[in-house]
Amino acid sequence: MGKTNTKSFKELTTLKVGGEIKYFFEVKNQKELVDKVSFAKNKSLTIFIIGGGSDIAVSDKNFEGVVIKYVGSSVQVIGNLVKVEAGMNWDKLVEETVNRNLQGIECLSGIPGSVGASPIQNIGAYGQELSETFIELKAYDISNQKFVIFKNEDCKFSYRESIFKRKDYWQKFIIVDITLKLKKYTDNNLELQTIRDEILRIRGEKLVNPDEIPNAGSFFKNPIINKSKKDTLLIKYPEMVIFPFNNEYKISAGWLIEKTGWKGKSLGPVKVSDKHSLVLTNPEGKGTFSDIKSLADTIIADVDNKFGIKLEPEVQYINL
Ligand SMILES: Cc1cc2nc3c(=O)[nH]c(=O)nc-3n(C[C@H](O)[C@H](O)[C@H](O)COP(=O)(O)OP(=O)(O)OC[C@H]3O[C@@H](n4cnc5c(N)ncnc54)[C@H](O)[C@@H]3O)c2cc1C
Repeated sequence: MGKTNTKSFKELTTLKVGGEIKYFFEVKNQKELVDKVSFAKNKSLTIFIIGGGSDIAVSDKNFEGVVIKYVGSSVQVIGNLVKVEAGMNWDKLVEETVNRNLQGIECLSGIPGSVGASPIQNIGAYGQELSETFIELKAYDISNQKFVIFKNEDCKFSYRESIFKRKDYWQKFIIVDITLKLKKYTDNNLELQTIRDEILRIRGEKLVNPDEIPNAGSFFKNPIINKSKKDTLLIKYPEMVIFPFNNEYKISAGWLIEKTGWKGKSLGPVKVSDKHSLVLTNPEGKGTFSDIKSLADTIIADVDNKFGIKLEPEVQYINL
């Protein structure tokens, strides 16, 4: 049977907020997973799936259901195909593929969290996205109590999105492994390790390490706007940070927040990072979910008032 512990979301998340959990199970393999899902179903309890807890903000209420963390973490490499269990730390996987000179996820170096969560928001950074190398995943379908395969196209990947964030798929599939197809790296001028080192260096400068200051990375998505909105804004703010994105435009949410004066500012015990205005921090770990939510809501309102743009959280709110 899987390991049972009394835990709170505060302990299991990088933002260090969230209430107590009624049943928390770490499961090492598919059999333990099936047992724990049956346990929850027999008691008619809600299941929440957690990985490294680095992309969620959980309410202060107690969670009266079952939280399952899949911790099996084996890796199989066959040629350019890499099949890896959900519990592996994402960055360890990147390190391992770089060591094997396999190209395709090196720009995703340093992203916190687990392999199992990587498809949920189609993790991306520095021009690379998981969807570019992703072949398929295996997941346990909680409703039908059977294992299923999702191919790349079944996941409906887009910018920080996948089918697993849609209401009818949300918390319905527990990912147990993913398979990626990488390429043998052949550039003689630059080593993959050099790219990885450089990305880790830049991330270290720009982002806030959750082990030092609790946070959940970029709290908001970069808003996507159409051309006419972009043109209007650029007249008023010629220095606005904006990039072409598909047929539309992506604005730096960090820039918008900075221009509303929130960079480095606190609201109660929580604070907008002074290093990066997209990062909401819980510096002493004393803030609650409601403190974080008040700060996020105030920022959303201020940005909306100033620019007419509604920021959306990238971080998922849980157990509201
Ligand atoms: C400092 C920092 C920097 C970051 N930088 C980036 C970045 O550059 N790019 C980026 O894309 N993200 C970034 N993130 C966000 C985060 O690292 C990713 O979203 C990551 O994939 C979350 O992994 P996790 O295991 O912590 O997921 P969790 O926070 O535990 O869970 C996130 C979601 O995945 C679900 N989930 C977790 N495991 C499974 C599973 N096995 N099966 C099914 N569902 C599951 C959860 O239910 C939840 O919906 C950053 C976060 C931090 C704190």
